[in-house]
Amino acid sequence: MDGKIPILSRLLILSILFIFSVNTYSDTDYSPGDIVFISLEENERSMNFYYNSNLTTKVLKDNSPYLLFGIPYYTKDGKNQFIFKSEKIIKKVTLNILKNKYPIQRIEIKKFKTKTEDEYKRIAKERDEMIKAKKQTYDRFPDYKFTMPAVGPSSGTYGTVRYYNGKKGNYHNGYDIAADLGSPVYAPSSGIVTLTGDYYYNGKFIMVNHGNNLISIFLHLDEIAVKKDDIIEKGQIIGAIGSTGLSTGPHLHWSVMLNNSYIDPLELINN
Ligand SMILES: [Zn+2]
Repeated sequence: MDGKIPILSRLLILSILFIFSVNTYSDTDYSPGDIVFISLEENERSMNFYYNSNLTTKVLKDNSPYLLFGIPYYTKDGKNQFIFKSEKIIKKVTLNILKNKYPIQRIEIKKFKTKTEDEYKRIAKERDEMIKAKKQTYDRFPDYKFTMPAVGPSSGTYGTVRYYNGKKGNYHNGYDIAADLGSPVYAPSSGIVTLTGDYYYNGKFIMVNHGNNLISIFLHLDEIAVKKDDIIEKGQIIGAIGSTGLSTGPHLHWSVMLNNSYIDPLELINN
């Protein structure tokens, strides 16, 4: 040995010292709530990528690895650069976002109920439990070809801007299916149950991690047929439709999250 570092080793050292940055552009237009497949190199299959510190879901499509990215609801229209960070690689993806004109819904509430101190405490505790459960990991490529979780007409779509007594409220972050009290709720894909409960707003609910933090949440149930840490199969009955929590009649509210952002659940049906 002459003390020189062989070429291959030098390259390896360089790759350890520098973080690779890769830029990608797409000519397809997207809307908030849409899903985007971002291809990964074969050696990136085992790496975790984070978008704004949130784990980005990895999937296998035709046996090749991809990031399945959900465009956050509040993304501005025009060209946006999304940055995905792993330990050694940074991917920058530029997408053109079209502002979606979501429908406006005006809701009149006759009686405003004033919350008690205990109710505020309860709501804060329940919110924290939800945040914690959403971060629980489930290291598995998800089956992202979903089936509908209930049979019935739609009674609310993703993205609707809601005004309560003329005051702008939160957007509707899921998809609503109206059905009779007690109708079955089916798992739209396999996964693990990460949380269940009976919360102030959610009523009886189930949270499922379908793998790599592709998450479904089912609200306002009458019955919960699964428990935390249960492994569930696609199509399995997990509960019954109800009107518990903040709900005006029997329906299923179904939310889906990618990279900790709510996306349009219908994006995963027939994709
Ligand atoms: Zn809803």
